[in-house]
Amino acid sequence: MRLTAKVTELNRVGQVLAARLKHLGIDTVEDLLFYFPFRYEDYRRVAGVSELKDGEQITFRGRIELIATKRSPVKRKLVTEAVVAEGDGRLRAVWFGQPFISKVLKAGDEVYLSGRVTRDRLGFELIGPSYEKVNTDNTPTHTARIVPLYSLTTGITQKQIRFLMSQAVVLADQVEEWLPGEIRARANLISLSPAIRSIHFPDSDAERQAAERRLKFDELYVRQLRAEMIRQSLKRVAAPALTLRLEEIKEFVSSLPFNLTADQRRAAWEIIQDTERTEPMNRLLEGDVGSGKTIVAALVMYNAVRNGYQAAIMAPTEVLAAQHFETLGRLFDRQGIRVGILTANKFQRFPEASRKGEKEKLPAAKAKEEIKAAIGGGEIDVIIGTHALLTEDVRFNRLGLVIVDEQHRFGVEQRRQIREKSGLLALAPAKASRGDAGQPEYTPHFLSMTATPIPRSFALTVYGDLDVSIIRELPAGRKPIITRVVSPHEREKAYGFIRQQVRGGRQVFVICPLIEESETGADKKSVLKEYEHLAKEVFPDLEIGYLHGKLKSREKDEAMARFAGGNTDVLVSTSVVEVGVDIPNASVMMIEGAERFGLAQLHQFRGRVGRSEHQSYCFLFTGLDSQKAGERLAFFEKTADGFALAEYDLETRGPGEVYGTTQSGMMNFRLATMRDVEIIKLAREMARGVDFEKFPELRERVREWESQVHLE
Ligand code: ADP
Ligand code: MG
Repeated sequence: MRLTAKVTELNRVGQVLAARLKHLGIDTVEDLLFYFPFRYEDYRRVAGVSELKDGEQITFRGRIELIATKRSPVKRKLVTEAVVAEGDGRLRAVWFGQPFISKVLKAGDEVYLSGRVTRDRLGFELIGPSYEKVNTDNTPTHTARIVPLYSLTTGITQKQIRFLMSQAVVLADQVEEWLPGEIRARANLISLSPAIRSIHFPDSDAERQAAERRLKFDELYVRQLRAEMIRQSLKRVAAPALTLRLEEIKEFVSSLPFNLTADQRRAAWEIIQDTERTEPMNRLLEGDVGSGKTIVAALVMYNAVRNGYQAAIMAPTEVLAAQHFETLGRLFDRQGIRVGILTANKFQRFPEASRKGEKEKLPAAKAKEEIKAAIGGGEIDVIIGTHALLTEDVRFNRLGLVIVDEQHRFGVEQRRQIREKSGLLALAPAKASRGDAGQPEYTPHFLSMTATPIPRSFALTVYGDLDVSIIRELPAGRKPIITRVVSPHEREKAYGFIRQQVRGGRQVFVICPLIEESETGADKKSVLKEYEHLAKEVFPDLEIGYLHGKLKSREKDEAMARFAGGNTDVLVSTSVVEVGVDIPNASVMMIEGAERFGLAQLHQFRGRVGRSEHQSYCFLFTGLDSQKAGERLAFFEKTADGFALAEYDLETRGPGEVYGTTQSGMMNFRLATMRDVEIIKLAREMARGVDFEKFPELRERVREWESQVHLE
């Protein structure tokens, strides 16, 4: 059998089981081999009755004397009981709710039973042990060895998958080694086929560890190699050298209504230093919500424009793009810098007012063409947009800098496009002449920004090709946000508190998980229903607004503008306000169905308030069925540090959930975790400076991996 054979070619795999395996991403025998256990039980110790100790994990080998299934007199549950003998020793085994066992095992059968023994006055007992008949060549799969446990889906048992795996590992020899012997030797790694065999059925701990080390290395190394490929290719293209215009920047900074924090200064400095080089910058700016990343971006853009280049900033939502248009527009307008916006629905120059003043509103298509022409003609210096900036086929004039705000909120495919295309957004009309003799090939400097705190070791893995700047401190004068999980009977009190805040001149966000009521979410609050409820019953005297992703762009703008202008007291919204929205006067963030959100996301919501000197509050309401969320939310209540929250989520929910990149191959590790610091370092070292000409198989491997996973 070949590795590419479908699982249905294995013994005892029918269409039904094949379909279930598909849920686990297993289609072929090879997929199966790469489906690794998440844990093991050590059942190696085979002990006779005289050697048993209460609480020990063992395997018992004996002959079944009696076995029967009955209904328990009290709870009416099916209980299977067996007595198993080995010499003079006897042991009882009990299974609940598995009546088929008394059909599979019969009196007289010789069996292995593995589990934890307990002792009572009748002697030793195994509750729900793994069981297996002793076969002729005595090669147990489920007992009497280190036994693998796999993540399952409904309708598949550990026994089934182990049985299939025992057929598949025979073919592990066919798995091709991809690591050059030289690298394997230097990194002290075992080869691939034995590693795969041992990861499923190790004979010793040492064997398992060696297998794990090799396979984790593979996962980390391919990512590091890709990062190295990007690094090496960036060295081959030229970016414009943007010199530091210190005097002008100082002037600009002194015109701001506040002093920059030390972290903001340092970050801006690091970034601008990068852009002074002719190698394109590839940097990530990490800073907790409200830490003031926008102004850092503004400084860097300012410097680029003063060097005679254009700068573009992309936001994941239209709401956020519109906000940047306002903030940056006002900021830059005073400096004589020309700002424009181009999203799917919004295309204009700053300030908006002048266009409205003209009264003769251009038809949309025409306005869009006009703004595109202005960008292409170099009449706009700072371009604000969404992903549409890429899809609209915009020609730039002298684009020197691309910034992606809240980069984790862009879809995986969008991120890939941005990266790919920003390399192509060359100086116009460069595309045709790229690489022509004498014509410089330009790539703009690239900065992404995120509020999602990524632990350092993880950043090294996932963003191996990036440099990272971090803003840790918040601007001075911010008061910690008071966070409370509110129980249902305190809801009225919370509303009373909100009314008080509004009377004091503040504003309030209410977040709901859904837009409309749906069949699946009968108990989950929806924006539209909650809006009605608040406007009619709870706060008939207040101005209530609502916002969600399905509104037209203009409606979203209007809702945001009314709230920003203080005309709305309470804004009911979906998670569209999660990213970046900045309303300093808002002081209460109320979240419905809080258990449905990850901590990092809740932290983002909370970050919408506490953006000024006003004491701010975050109230969490949970749905009916939220017992499990209790601990998480309690942790959230007492933790203000985004890094700590992200680590908690990482531990309890895994990286995909935390960084919203479940589908992104970058984060999808089968074995490696961010705690594998040693192997992460090793993989990094082994990738640095690799000669891809000498080892074309490594480049080949990266390409193959890229084609299998979604990348950003
Ligand atoms: P984020 O990092 O979440 O994008 P913003 O850039 O939106 O944060 O900034 C949050 C708020 O803090 C804004 O209202 C901004 O004007 C303000 N701000 C930024 N830097 C400072 C500072 N150094 N001192 C005081 N306020 C600041
Ligand atoms: Mg922001």
